[in-house]
Parts: sequence; structure tokens; C-alpha cells
Amino acid sequence: MRTEDILAAIAEHKDQLALVMMPGVQYYTGQYFDIKAITKQGHDCGALVGFDLAHAFGNVPLQLHDDGVDFAVWCSYKYLNSGPGAVSGVFVHERHSSNPDLPRFAGWWGHDEAERFQMKKGFVPMEGADAWQLSNVNVIPSAAHLASLEMFSKAGIYNLREKSILLTGYMEYLINELNTGGEVIKIITPSDSGQRGAQLSLCLSSGGKEVFIQLGKNGIVADWREPNVIRVAAVPMYNSFEEVWLFADQLKRLVRN
Ligand SMILES: *Cc1c(COP(=O)(O)O)cnc(C)c1O
Repeated sequence: MRTEDILAAIAEHKDQLALVMMPGVQYYTGQYFDIKAITKQGHDCGALVGFDLAHAFGNVPLQLHDDGVDFAVWCSYKYLNSGPGAVSGVFVHERHSSNPDLPRFAGWWGHDEAERFQMKKGFVPMEGADAWQLSNVNVIPSAAHLASLEMFSKAGIYNLREKSILLTGYMEYLINELNTGGEVIKIITPSDSGQRGAQLSLCLSSGGKEVFIQLGKNGIVADWREPNVIRVAAVPMYNSFEEVWLFADQLKRLVRN
């Protein structure tokens, strides 16, 4: 999807538009959208703008505050490696976060701590982010989440992004080599590294499911999406260039067979 078309669609529908809700990175194609431009256009057209960052968080650097995003949500079990059931993330821009009149999905843990147990009627939010907590967090997955966040903090998201661009570019190069003499695998993820994260979505004209199954048997963890797409992500935190080469080598063998 071209950014200019998205911006044009927002402008075209502005009179009926209350909310623009988009993925940061689209789960099927791996396209990384221009969060800043989409947010600005949504605001210029009088709408609120929110993002589903399930495939973006821990994958690409984000500047939600500076980009003016109204709100965003993400899970922590994909690029953040925290395991299913671990705490999710919610971003609410500070221009909304302290507004007590904003209708919200509130939980008792967000109620003013000083009078939380007085059990009065009504909801009195805490200041800032505390107001958006729903309940107690799950302790064991939170330990894994903390360990992961500490690793991200130590590695630095911009360093990870730098390696990610090289790693995914290398994977793309090897897959395109496989296409010399006729397109066997079509990459439906944008070829511009600025418009994608770590993921490449490989569209196979036939036999894709079997290739995916065989990859799994050879120890390569990819993902199958109907009707014909294999999603692969070379993750900069723990995947090496050699592993990308080994993957492409396996893929080549499987496709040729
Ligand atoms: C994984 C995913 C989510 C997260 O859903 P959970 O309910 O946290 O499992 C949300 N949106 C998209 C597009 C996803 O791929």
C-alpha cells in the first residue's frame, strides 16, 4: 500500500471519519507504515489515530509521543519474546492520559491509590500511566518480560534495527538469487527497507505448504499463512547471518525438489 494512497483515502473520507486505526507493521505482508505521516493526516482530517503494534514493537524503533499518536497497543510475546499470556502494552498520549473525563476501559488498579479501598462509587484515575492499569500483572511472565526488556535496553533498539536491515536485506538478496531464471518465490513485503521490519512474506505459486512443513522438520521456525505465504523473520537479537544463509540454502533445496 502506498503512503500517498493511504493519506488520500483518509482525506477522501474525512467527513465520516472518527478514528484511523492501522497496524504499525502489517502482519501478513510485513509492510511498515509511515506512522508519523498517517497520524498527521488523521489529525488534519479531525480524526483520532491509533496503531496496533503487535508486529512492530521490538521490531522497529517507535517514537509514539513525538509522532503524536493518540494511542497504541501491542502484545509482548512476538518480537519481545515474553511468552504467551505475558502483559500487553498500551500507549496513551499524554494529552489524553490525564484527562479524567475520557471514556476508558478502566480497572480498579487504575483508581486513585489513596482511596482505592474505600469502595466509593465512581472512578478517580491515578496520575499518568498508573491510571491505565487494569489489574494485577502476572508475576512469572513478567519476570520473562523484564529480562527481555533489559536485553532490548542493553542492545539498543537502533543497533538492533541497523543489524535487522542488513540481516533482512541479506535474506532478500539470497531469495532473489534463487529466482534467477524465473520467479519461483515472490516477496510481497516492500523491498524498501524503510517500509519493512525483520519479516519477509514469501509467496509461492505452488507447493508452499509442503515447503513450510519441510522447513520446520529441518529446524527452521517460520510461519504459514493461507493461502500461499510463508512468513520468515530473521530476528537481530538472536539470529546470525550464517543462519540466514542456512535458511536460504534449505529453501533452495526444497524449492528445487
Ligand atoms: C498477535 C496480534 C495481536 C495480539 O493479539 P493478542 O490478543 O495479544 O494475542 C494483535 N493484532 C495482530 C495483528 C496480531 O498479529
